[in-house]
Amino acid sequence: MSGTKHVKNPDVILVGSGIMSANLGALLKRLQPDLKIQLYEVTHELAQEASNGWHNAGTGHAGICELSYTPFVGDDGSVDITKAIEIFQEFELSKQFWAHAVSTGMVDQPRDFINPVPHISFVHGQQQVDFLTSRYKGMSAHHFFRDMEFTTDPATIRSWAPLLIEGREDMPVAATKMVAGTDVNFGAISQKLIAWLGQQEGCGVATSHRVIDLEESSSGGWEVRIKDLQTNRVMTNSAKFVFVGAGGGSLPLLQKSKIAESKGFGGFPIGGQWLVCDKPEIVAKHQAKVYGQALDEAPTMAVPHLDTRIIDGKKSLLFGPFAAWTTKFLHEGGSWTDLPRSLKLDNLGTLIKVGLTNLPLVKYLVKQGTQSMASRMRLLRTYYPEANLDDWKLEDAGIRVQAIKKEDGEAGIVHFGTEVVTNADKSIAALLGASPGASVSVSIMLELIATCMPQLLDMPPSDTTIETLIPTYRENLLPAEAADRYFRLSEAANQLLGLL
Ligand SMILES: Cc1cc2nc3c(=O)[nH]c(=O)nc-3n(C[C@H](O)[C@H](O)[C@H](O)COP(=O)(O)OP(=O)(O)OC[C@H]3O[C@@H](n4cnc5c(N)ncnc54)[C@H](O)[C@@H]3O)c2cc1C
Repeated sequence: MSGTKHVKNPDVILVGSGIMSANLGALLKRLQPDLKIQLYEVTHELAQEASNGWHNAGTGHAGICELSYTPFVGDDGSVDITKAIEIFQEFELSKQFWAHAVSTGMVDQPRDFINPVPHISFVHGQQQVDFLTSRYKGMSAHHFFRDMEFTTDPATIRSWAPLLIEGREDMPVAATKMVAGTDVNFGAISQKLIAWLGQQEGCGVATSHRVIDLEESSSGGWEVRIKDLQTNRVMTNSAKFVFVGAGGGSLPLLQKSKIAESKGFGGFPIGGQWLVCDKPEIVAKHQAKVYGQALDEAPTMAVPHLDTRIIDGKKSLLFGPFAAWTTKFLHEGGSWTDLPRSLKLDNLGTLIKVGLTNLPLVKYLVKQGTQSMASRMRLLRTYYPEANLDDWKLEDAGIRVQAIKKEDGEAGIVHFGTEVVTNADKSIAALLGASPGASVSVSIMLELIATCMPQLLDMPPSDTTIETLIPTYRENLLPAEAADRYFRLSEAANQLLGLL
């Protein structure tokens, strides 16, 4: 979908049409129906960068299968499940809001953007089997993960995901499985939410429009300069609030805003690639997202997984991601000069320091990006021993620009998640970083609203208050006493999303 509708001097300008802007725009318009909102997107179609179906893995991250969310703690071999629980609860908020969008006709056909796909963790070797055993013990005790299954029996794993076992030499293996996992096409839900937004009174969506500059206005709010890429005409629009949801393009725009809070931030891009298989007889044999352990220096977001993907109604298999060295910040509209041009006096020292303290990572990225197809296949065969080179092709994934800030000098860059940067009067917010990402986008945008427009979350009861949109927004579903309410609401959302 593309568009050229313009609203002059709206209340809110959204930069970018990815999952973050899509959720924010839809949430804001529901919470305050008379709000005027204008969205600008540089590409011709909506959501073609990181949120595009093929540019990310489409895992509805809920902490079920990602082993990096549950590190070992203590000498007794127990694992810490705090992070997994947190992500699970945040993904529930996304599902509740999208279910509300379906139930009110904002979006149709949930099958276009969310599908049930079991989430499996799979390990081999005794040490990893011990880890998974301990992880299962910790997780299955919580009601969120009550339905998790565990096995060390190869025959059971074969019944869950035959490709993992066929042709595998005899070794200790273990797996957990939860049927309630999902595959999400974040690009499709972004497009649907933005299409809805664009049809609302007082709202406009303009594609092929690049935001080129932002200036704080003396009367409050922001003057935004936009270039129409079809006509090369440059125009100005103003708004009381601007959200820079430009993905990899956020850092350069944040720097242009010149707000004090932007100083010291830098960006470190990590590209990605997948192996993709479309061969029907192989695709039909696998119905799961299978995550394993991180390898060597691999950053946590590059832990490989063997995934069922459902994009545009078609099922495929995807394996990866393989990380790659790049200096571009955007896959579609990026340039090789993005990284050098982001270097400023206020972030140069931090970036050099971070680069020097992360040389193994830089070496890893270069090695990953330049490896042969044979070496990629070797890694795939640790998951799918009988994989055949002829059945797989290499495709580009999206680019993650990891945000780096001053204090990160020693800590390293790869564990740094998303960061919402706002100015003192809360008239601008920019989202930097990309992990854990799209799955928890609703939760991130709710935090942004709580910071910049808290009054919208405190409206008198109506059919557009936050509790109507997201019933458990203010609730803690963690304690055992909340289990019944969680199961009830989760089932209702899953039903609306066609997941049951
Ligand atoms: C390889 C990989 C795998 C991933 N896997 C998962 C996963 O399995 N699950 C998950 O939850 N998350 C995953 N993620 C993360 C997820 O994709 C991102 O967190 C999410 O898509 C970011 O959304 P966004 O809206 O911030 O950015 P984007 O989707 O990148 O959207 C930004 C938009 O802004 C536009 N733009 C940029 N500059 C300008 C400008 N100057 N003017 C106007 N428009 C502009 C861009 O064209 C783009 O459309 C993955 C990411 C990658 C790279």
